Amino acid sequence: TANVNSNRKDGRSTLPNVKNIIVVASGKGGVGKSTAAANLALALAEGGASVGLMDADIYGPSVPIMFGVRGERPMMTNVDGKGMIVPLEKYGIKLMSIGLLIDEKQAVVWRGPMASSALRQFITDVYWGDLDYLVIDMPPGTGDIHLTLVQTVPVTGAVIVTTPQDVALADAKKGIMMFAGQQINVPIIGLVENMSYFTPAELPNNKYYIFGKDGGKRLAEDMEIPFLGQIPLVQSIREGGDDGAPVMVGNDAITKQAFLEFAGNAARSIAMRN
Ligand code: ADP
Ligand code: MG
Repeated sequence: TANVNSNRKDGRSTLPNVKNIIVVASGKGGVGKSTAAANLALALAEGGASVGLMDADIYGPSVPIMFGVRGERPMMTNVDGKGMIVPLEKYGIKLMSIGLLIDEKQAVVWRGPMASSALRQFITDVYWGDLDYLVIDMPPGTGDIHLTLVQTVPVTGAVIVTTPQDVALADAKKGIMMFAGQQINVPIIGLVENMSYFTPAELPNNKYYIFGKDGGKRLAEDMEIPFLGQIPLVQSIREGGDDGAPVMVGNDAITKQAFLEFAGNAARSIAMRN
């Protein structure tokens, strides 16, 4: 399959057998980027794909908690004479987080250049093997880290996560512009709107638009990028993340459906570019 960034040779040598690399990004923190990335990875795997999830949020890694693997230490393997880190496996996907390699109690206070080189080393030292999709959970913001990442691995495209409220939309727009811009130049797979509405258990036919209605959908239309779906605000999503079992591995069928639609739309958007 053709990839616009396949000329980035570093990534070709480190990730030769990964078909699609999806970065999940947002301008703003706390909009549900990690939640979207984790459940996207699990939903793609449920469709039969082999999937890896890399937590590249070096300032606030959340994969160890979301997948209940805090404190586990990955094994090492030898690949062509080079020591490489073996991803953990949980719920049928491969996992790696910078949070599994550093001491949790030591707050990460790296400055830009150090953070970038740590990320670069982390990416090139993990042995993913054969994958259909590698989903990368990015740190918030629009900075050096993103540039480092796209220079290190051949990114297929970016999924942008936003909530429907104005402050998040403004940051999401910056994120879209950054990826689409000259310097980074990564295709936008699409935008997913998170925390779109809330449905109380006792009023199952009602939707309350707590953060505003359809803000993400309108932004996608305005920017002429694919709209990948709406994820409701649901207690089980939050609990799943905190309890080490994302909602996609539980039995809340309605909520899982939202993530399956999101993943299906993302996979179709990628397939149309390949
Ligand atoms: P980010 O990675 O963008 O900082 P997270 O994915 O960590 O955001 O989400 C922030 C918090 O919001 C977490 O506690 C998460 O469980 C919760 N959360 C995210 N999306 C939803 C949702 N759709 N419904 C309920 N809680 C959510
Ligand atoms: Mg996060």
